[in-house]
Amino acid sequence: MTVPPRREFEPVTPFDEAERIVRSTVTPLDVEEVALREAWGRVLAERIVAPHPVPPFDNSMVDGFAVLAADVEGATPESPVELDVVGEVAAGDLGDVMVATGTAVRIMTGAPVPASADAIVMLEWTTPGARRVRVERETTPGRFIRRAGEDTRAGESMLEAGRTLGAADTGVLASIGSERVRVYRRPRVAVLVTGDELLEVGEELAPGKIRSSNNYTLAGQVRDAGGELEDLGIGRDDPRDLARRIERGRDADVLITSGGVSVGDHDEVQNVLLAAGLERLLWRVSASPGKPLLFGRMGETLVFGLPGNPVSSMVCFENFVRPVLRSLQGDTRPERPRVQAKLLDSISGPESRRHFARVRVAWTADGFVAREVRPLGSGNLRSMVYANGLAIIPEGRAMAEAGELLTVVLLGFPDSEDQDAGA
Ligand code: AMP
Ligand code: MG
Repeated sequence: MTVPPRREFEPVTPFDEAERIVRSTVTPLDVEEVALREAWGRVLAERIVAPHPVPPFDNSMVDGFAVLAADVEGATPESPVELDVVGEVAAGDLGDVMVATGTAVRIMTGAPVPASADAIVMLEWTTPGARRVRVERETTPGRFIRRAGEDTRAGESMLEAGRTLGAADTGVLASIGSERVRVYRRPRVAVLVTGDELLEVGEELAPGKIRSSNNYTLAGQVRDAGGELEDLGIGRDDPRDLARRIERGRDADVLITSGGVSVGDHDEVQNVLLAAGLERLLWRVSASPGKPLLFGRMGETLVFGLPGNPVSSMVCFENFVRPVLRSLQGDTRPERPRVQAKLLDSISGPESRRHFARVRVAWTADGFVAREVRPLGSGNLRSMVYANGLAIIPEGRAMAEAGELLTVVLLGFPDSEDQDAGA
């Protein structure tokens, strides 16, 4: 039997370098065309140019009367101007009515403004009668008219490639008739959790066993990042079982394993991946939590070996996998938002590594504040339920003091001041 190398003596890669190595492997996936109703949440792969002005025609901003501004000049409640009402334009009508001097046309919000009118008086400024309307305030040319192209001119660029399509985006696309849009393909992400101690969620606890949670946290994180999940189940700490499952993950764009990448006696995942042809680009990063991270390529598949500790797995995913999944989808802003937050208590971390402290962030009149979430150990997954940010203590520092400003990666919405930070 050959003695495996003493892995604990292999070097640990500085965080920034690890980030560079991982990000440099990414090129965006192919582009596909989807129906607009499927496009929400996808990343746009084309620039969208308006084929016509938006809105497409001059229309009324209010319910009221289309008039000639000169006719109602000086109108007040004390000296109103009376006009003959010669017609009505509703939303959807053609608006081909003539507004001549001394006349007005009843008009509704969104209805086309007759070409002969130059202003609208709102209903609230008038006293309408059967055939005539008393106008009690003057208006100015163009008043309450939404001009054709006021939102966007024909030929103007509306949306840029690399945007994640939200509600407003899909609405804008609908308004210009984009029935189908080009978006980046979602990455297929295979997830394999490993460990002899792991039970399925439906199984009874037994001595020495725990239920596997990482497959659920990872599935959620993959979905949240826009990936399509392929579940490879729970692998045993047995090279043959692991090899079989990893084989099934080969067609994925990204393969994520959890557990078994540390220096324990049964940490077989790396060996099995190497035997399966993994080109190892990184193992061990100067991060806390998440030091044992393994990264490489197996053919076209990017492979992340995440540590098994539930918090480490989640934080590693946040730092390394999520931005990759976003960039694979062509997202030009793959990063989570970051804020500066004032610490309410001191936080400590290992001096040699970049530390990501789980914090609860709140927004106050004086800016963001953050407090570390407990219990601290990276096995305590419940802390991640409560955390809405990761505060970064840079390498070379073992401590951040109360009152200090730290950069915090936002994982969720901060509390507002009046919300209970102890929920
Ligand atoms: P490992 O990285 O395999 O050494 O595992 C480190 C710790 O994480 C151990 O306490 C494992 O029991 C735990 N762990 C590993 N995988 C999972 C999982 N899928 N769900 C919950 N805990 C896990
Ligand atoms: Mg294990």
